[in-house]
Amino acid sequence: MTDVFGDLVGQDEAVAVLRRAAASAAALLRAPVTAPVGGRDDLDALAEEHDDDPAPAPADPGAGMTHAWIFTGPPGSGRSVAARAFAAALECVHGTGCGSCPGCHTTLTGTHADVRLVVPEGLSIGVNEMRALVLRAASAPSGGRWQIVIIEDADRLTEAAGNALLKAIEEPPPRTVFLLCAPSTHPDDISVTIRSRCRVVPLRQPPPAAVAEVLVRRDGIAPDVAEWAAAAAQGHVGRARRLARDPEARQRRDAVLAVPRRLTGVGAAFDAASALIEAAEAEAAASVAEIDEAERTALQTALGAGGTGRGAAGAMRGAAGQLKDLEKRQKSRATRAQRDALDRALVDLAGFYRDAIVMALRAPVAPVHTDTASLAGAGAQKWDAEGSLRRLEAVLECRAAIEANVKPRIAVEAMMLALWRG
Ligand SMILES: [Zn+2]
Repeated sequence: MTDVFGDLVGQDEAVAVLRRAAASAAALLRAPVTAPVGGRDDLDALAEEHDDDPAPAPADPGAGMTHAWIFTGPPGSGRSVAARAFAAALECVHGTGCGSCPGCHTTLTGTHADVRLVVPEGLSIGVNEMRALVLRAASAPSGGRWQIVIIEDADRLTEAAGNALLKAIEEPPPRTVFLLCAPSTHPDDISVTIRSRCRVVPLRQPPPAAVAEVLVRRDGIAPDVAEWAAAAAQGHVGRARRLARDPEARQRRDAVLAVPRRLTGVGAAFDAASALIEAAEAEAAASVAEIDEAERTALQTALGAGGTGRGAAGAMRGAAGQLKDLEKRQKSRATRAQRDALDRALVDLAGFYRDAIVMALRAPVAPVHTDTASLAGAGAQKWDAEGSLRRLEAVLECRAAIEANVKPRIAVEAMMLALWRG
């Protein structure tokens, strides 16, 4: 039986920090209230403690705990897994994150009354959503432990939403804990002022062997498949699991890795660009279709669609606005899903050219894509290290351009031409 940190693959240092914090938090809850009435809470004082401060005296029951955290790391390293595990440990009735008590269980399944999870569906988290959240987070925890707000993709906060959050972090309610997830603490991802109020838990890209081990142990995947998928997913646990289990995900990857072979001319480059964009659109559409439909049905039911009573006409007028809001949200989510799908494809493609460089240099490093290693080897002979590197850079530039809001089709066409020309 593993505890709540069991799914954090290859993150021993981060897990040690979080275990210590959870133990401190539990000690804080047990400690008699020593602060004068109206005075500062233990957590307030701790909020001003920074990573580089000397460790507080061991007698301090709050050592290691603070009210605002940022989990950083590359996609797939388990930022949100870490945040959820830590939340579970804080709500755990034993204060350890045992994994089997009601506190752990409800937190991990997303039904704990005091744990709120913000998952941005669109391209950004808006100010209204954040204000509502901050307001609710200020109430006393109903379970008597902690009020926890987890913000996945905190780098997608709008500036106004970031300011609303900052206010709450600057003047934290005594029992409220904020857990933010972001790719890094670069000012592009997290504002400097929010960063300065949080303790940072850096996660690393887990090594393929650790990813393979968890696929075998927890998901019951055959060791050879797990090993292949872990390497192909380049340390992304969720992606590795999908590759190992989902034949469609494998087919999409195969199609992407066929691109270098298909680039035989200008026309072929444009065709390859279209195919890549359309595949991403189809994948995204499939991933959001079910939830879109469920939301529409739920809203229509709530609005009493099909009603014929006196109030029905008035209700339908209000309904038009709500339906429009819903469509806007769904469109934003679809755009995000498309970009995510396209980005996965670009990461696979980057892995291929990385393999070509490794082979051109005869570096003693395992290839990312074992199944296209011979093709990458042929590329290495043809392009040499330098030509392979230029192609890898073209893929990375495409990713950066899309992240900077260049229209995906334009960015991908430019990339395909660069990949063809070298
Ligand atoms: Zn527990």
